[in-house]
Amino acid sequence: CGIVGVVGNQNAKEVLLQGLEKLEYRGYDSAGIYLIDDTKQDHLFKEKGRILALRNIVRQDVEASIGIGHTRWATHGVPSVINAHPHQSQSGRFTLVHNGVIENFTKLKSMYLSDVDFVSDTDTEVIVQLIEKFSLEGLTTLASFKKVVSLLKGSYALALMDKNVSDTIYVAKNKSPLLVGLGEGFNVVCSDAMAMIQVTNQFVELMDGEVVTVTATAIKIENAENKEINRLPYTAEIDL
Ligand code: GLU
Repeated sequence: CGIVGVVGNQNAKEVLLQGLEKLEYRGYDSAGIYLIDDTKQDHLFKEKGRILALRNIVRQDVEASIGIGHTRWATHGVPSVINAHPHQSQSGRFTLVHNGVIENFTKLKSMYLSDVDFVSDTDTEVIVQLIEKFSLEGLTTLASFKKVVSLLKGSYALALMDKNVSDTIYVAKNKSPLLVGLGEGFNVVCSDAMAMIQVTNQFVELMDGEVVTVTATAIKIENAENKEINRLPYTAEIDL
């Protein structure tokens, strides 16, 4: 189980697939990637089994510079294509990958989402449906994401994309590992530096409770009190 993301790299599809291959050691039963291509069309690919199986169903003609990906180790819902991540909100606007366990998802579902038709059996889907709900109520994507994160109990590394904002990945973490990697003209996110060491060795550690906005040229880290945090990258040294 692990997550990856990349923004601003013309080779996004390959960066994600290679990143997921590097995360396979963490365990997997299924995997998926989500891309927004250069014409702003989005593409979701999910498959059971190894990353190789996913690779075989990813359309070769899709060219994208932004996307997120996931290898799943099921905790809620059997391993299947439907339960594989990324998960999407009802309208398809929001797409999310999650590593970890949401302990209060049943409660959140009955409190806020009794009118939503869920497609998966995962704890994760609650997060992305809630983001859409608060956004429909008028919050910006970042504000909605922050509000949802403040309601979650459990462990999570999250990466979120909004189809209407095709140059940004939103991430957050609590008790699950998550790093931002700084490339030249692009940025990445990953559960483990190993996943992205082929494209950068500059990583910024994230702390529990932080929400981060990642674009090709900048990262903005905010803590739970909405205070902006400046943190320098470290150089990862991994023998390939
Ligand atoms: N709890 C989530 C699920 O079962 C994420 C599992 C994971 O970390 O891979 O889908």
